Amino acid sequence: MLTAITGINWGDEGKGRMVDLLAENYDIVIRYQGGNNAGHTVVNDRGRFILNLLPSGVFREETVNVLGPGVVIDLEHLFNEVGRLTEAGIKITPDNLIISDRATICMPYHKMLDCLEEDRLADAKFGSTRRGIAPVYSDKYMKKAFRTGDLLDFGDIERRMPAIIEWKNLTVAGGYGAEPLKAEDMLDWLRKYGLPFTPFIRNTTEYLTKAVDEGKSILFEAQLGALRDIDFGIYPYTSSSNSIAAYAPIGSGIPGKKLDSSVGIMKAYSTCVGEGPFTCEMFGDEAHKLREAGGEYGAATGRPRRVGGFDVVASRYGVLIQGATCIALTKLDVLSGYDKIPVCVKYEVNGELTDVFPSGSALAKAKPVYEYLPGWSEDIGSARKKEDLPVPALAYVKYIEDAVGCPIKYVSVGPDREQYVEMF
Ligand code: GDP
Repeated sequence: MLTAITGINWGDEGKGRMVDLLAENYDIVIRYQGGNNAGHTVVNDRGRFILNLLPSGVFREETVNVLGPGVVIDLEHLFNEVGRLTEAGIKITPDNLIISDRATICMPYHKMLDCLEEDRLADAKFGSTRRGIAPVYSDKYMKKAFRTGDLLDFGDIERRMPAIIEWKNLTVAGGYGAEPLKAEDMLDWLRKYGLPFTPFIRNTTEYLTKAVDEGKSILFEAQLGALRDIDFGIYPYTSSSNSIAAYAPIGSGIPGKKLDSSVGIMKAYSTCVGEGPFTCEMFGDEAHKLREAGGEYGAATGRPRRVGGFDVVASRYGVLIQGATCIALTKLDVLSGYDKIPVCVKYEVNGELTDVFPSGSALAKAKPVYEYLPGWSEDIGSARKKEDLPVPALAYVKYIEDAVGCPIKYVSVGPDREQYVEMF
């Protein structure tokens, strides 16, 4: 069974929480794109954790976790993340963590360039997480990046580093006027944070092909949401990788294998971090109330998230491009206490109504058209079966299911592992 768990919206849908829940049924959990710009929150009997790089399967003893070739790895960040979890008693060894030899290393100069460019852009900034993700993916496509497998032959890295640093300094020092980089500093960084991971580095194509052939089940854990995909998202306010389900086998190292299912994680309302069009955005007191109720502050950055009502147009598009076979609707509990709940059902673009998600300047011009659904007052955090949900909450779920055209299998009613309802 090959299942992808992906975000339907702008990210932060609660993917980490759903992967932690569903990982029980899978032998292997894989992160296949992005880097430590992710912030997956997991709350379980071991505590509350925010994972930036490690797959959310690390908390289950029997699960093997993989960082695939599509991922970019800041080794210092990984080193610290593994250290934090080890201190909390979570075992991380080459038996339960495999790092692809084809993953790209996010170097300190990538992070530095991300910050230099965001600062240069000032008010026109992209809202980057400043973790070096766009610069490292750029270097990957420039064919000037280091890969994790290179650590297995450090002499080769030592030979290549001076030319790379010379090239980087054209921008760092020549362009931005910052202090020039030194090759020796970068080599020291790689020795300190990279070499400890050499026992974890393997060819994931061989490993995963064998695992699939042996009937092992695999869960692919996406970062961010459909609307942040580099090709299908709200360009240029996207991430620099493919966050869609179709990329999961590629970014993991098994491009010839097909997914059996795609679970789309969709929030019961909308949130968005960073800049760019966000049609259903609320402002003022209305926004404050929802942001506080949902604790909508970035897991990776602490930034307040922009919030709004559920957006049918954007979510239906998310379902479409994720090829979702079912949905997990998260954070329904946050909507308790509303008399009526706004749902954006169409966009108005240049005076015309549409339910097709636009791109480019048409999206920037789109205005939301709302319907209001009846709310409920009960706290639903303890609901464990369908019958425990108030009638208006069930009607809200059904409305959304019909509107986006995909069955809602799970409804999450709180951050804890057991706080969910299985709908069928
Ligand atoms: P991810 O990046 O998609 O994993 O999402 P985040 O971890 O950034 O954001 C999800 C946040 O919502 C985390 O703080 C979770 O603990 C929390 N969360 C997840 N599901 C629920 C839910 O159903 N209800 C509530 N109240 N919180 C939830």
